[in-house]
Amino acid sequence: MLTVQKFGGSSVADAERIRRVARIVADTYDRGDDVVVVLSAQGDTTDELLEKAVELSAAPGARELDVLLTTGEQVSIALMAMCLEQMGYPVVSLTGWQAGIETGDTFGDARIQRVDTERLLRYLRQHRIVVVAGYQGITADGELTTLGRGGSDTTAVALAAALKADRCQIFTDVDGVYTADPRKFSHAVKYEEITYDNMLALIADGAQVLHDRCVLLAKQYGIEIEVLSSFERKPGTIVRG
Ligand code: ADP
Ligand code: ASP
Ligand code: MG
Repeated sequence: MLTVQKFGGSSVADAERIRRVARIVADTYDRGDDVVVVLSAQGDTTDELLEKAVELSAAPGARELDVLLTTGEQVSIALMAMCLEQMGYPVVSLTGWQAGIETGDTFGDARIQRVDTERLLRYLRQHRIVVVAGYQGITADGELTTLGRGGSDTTAVALAAALKADRCQIFTDVDGVYTADPRKFSHAVKYEEITYDNMLALIADGAQVLHDRCVLLAKQYGIEIEVLSSFERKPGTIVRG
């Protein structure tokens, strides 16, 4: 059984949270699953990097912005791999390009065009936990790209599709998808299940819990997504057809 598990920025914001996430990943591995982990940049890193850019340039070029922004996820994967290694697990971290994620050349909003799974499959055959940087890829010309804000969700679904994973879990700081943002509306109700189309409608209404392209990709490839909490172990919301 191959499981893809994605953890967002608040889930890996500091050392304690990385340890908590590493435990979730390790438990999945201990159950006998092959595990591919996709990570976002820690906490507000991506916003902080953007602030650094505008300190130096009123209009930073899109190419250099992507060189800068891709560093955030690279920090997360290295730290997670170190943590798992220290816990005694076989693990390897991969940037987007190392993981074979090829995109178009629209810097800052690139689409994933192809995933060359050779390297991923090689490590999985060695029963290593593979930790991949979300939100990034590389063009056919070797340029670094990012997938648009929130794009790590899309990395997770793209890898699940390319690897024909059995499960795709998106862990975040809420315990599922609600009728409205549960942080703003206390009366919001959690969905046990939601269809791709209803999820897309919710996103169009401003729910940024999932990247829209991740849901479109999931719909296209029939990938079931489970949205669940990094902080509480309980069932989340299933997004399916
Ligand atoms: P991550 O960093 O894990 O990708 P995001 O901030 O992108 O997390 O998405 C999770 C956030 O989405 C939650 O903290 C929540 O405030 C917000 N959100 C907005 N609308 C919804 C909704 N309908 N259901 C659940 N969460 C929602
Ligand atoms: N780090 C990127 C962002 O903040 C991608 C992601 O978190 O999914 O938008
Ligand atoms: Mg997100």
